[in-house]
Amino acid sequence: MIYFDYAATSLKRKEIFEEVIENFEKFNGNPNSLHSYGRDSRKIMDESRRIISKKLNANFNEIYFTSGASESNNTVLRNFENTKIITTSIEHDSILNSIKNMNFKDVIYVNPNKDGIIDSCDVIKNIDENTKLVCVMFVNNETGAIEPVYEIGDYLKDKKIHFHIDATQALGHFDIDVKKLHCDSLSLSGHKIGGINGFGILYWKGKFSNLIYGGEQEREKRGGTSFVIGSFTMAKAIEKAEKEREHIKKIKNYFLKKLNENKFDYQINGNTEKSSDHILNLYLPWVSTEFLLTYMDLNSIAVSAGSACSAGSLNPSKVIEKMYNEERAKHSVRFSFGFKNTTDDVDEAFDVLKKLFEKRKND
Ligand code: PMP
Repeated sequence: MIYFDYAATSLKRKEIFEEVIENFEKFNGNPNSLHSYGRDSRKIMDESRRIISKKLNANFNEIYFTSGASESNNTVLRNFENTKIITTSIEHDSILNSIKNMNFKDVIYVNPNKDGIIDSCDVIKNIDENTKLVCVMFVNNETGAIEPVYEIGDYLKDKKIHFHIDATQALGHFDIDVKKLHCDSLSLSGHKIGGINGFGILYWKGKFSNLIYGGEQEREKRGGTSFVIGSFTMAKAIEKAEKEREHIKKIKNYFLKKLNENKFDYQINGNTEKSSDHILNLYLPWVSTEFLLTYMDLNSIAVSAGSACSAGSLNPSKVIEKMYNEERAKHSVRFSFGFKNTTDDVDEAFDVLKKLFEKRKND
């Protein structure tokens, strides 16, 4: 099986999990316990928090461990209920569905252009004295489009408006410096870079209200016995992911070269010059997304329609619909690359696509 669905979740990094097994006893305790079991776990957690905070150029005490970016995003939105907020129509469902299920005085959704990128001016022109939160993703999970978070942060830096960035898909692929971004909060997830699923980060500068009440974990901001293995695998994975940028760029460029050489009809959804190297979303007018995904799967290639958070993942992409139209969304597919991919994988995927194209032509 060849895996091209890293944006849904990365393949796991065996060597990190082997390190967990080798040091199994050190993960046994509850980090809040005073005995040596607890102290061993606490040491691992502190070291993970230190690595992650350093990577983000944040303070150790500004990093909160959560169950993932969904929880981090939920926590942020909860803190701004009953206010006016500005976001985009292409955010992840953990933002869009939270908004639908919470109460806000006013919600402005900024739409993307054909490159899948929002215009920071559209955010700025909607700001008024009632606006309390601006919430924009760093990299879109379906097209890889890089959103203008630096411009927005720069505009908001002197204002009393909270700026939240969902940087889940940027992690590993871009430097994330919360000071340069001028953000007040930021969400991340461990499993997008090869850490374990169910662990994430909320960076928050200043005070906020909990989403989860319970014990005194996370400086009383997030109850629940700490997920030590989650923090360990994420911290280790960040260090590895950053070294793989050139490799992933090579895979994407090789993919683009093959697309140019092959004569089947395609268009790129978005603009490869303005998107992350790990995501390539294609419009293939000659095949439905549903058929293609099944055909690829039968031929041992794992790809997706877009966000894996839509049940079954066969629903047409809402992001492609927003950028183009429903018809295009029904004929689009997302390839997303990661550390295990090789140029041979790309060759194989192309052979399968070509076989299907020829078959379609002769039908
Ligand atoms: N935001 C974005 C942009 C994502 O791609 C995802 C994962 N699909 C999430 C948030 C949610 O992350 P998690 O699975 O850690 O809850």
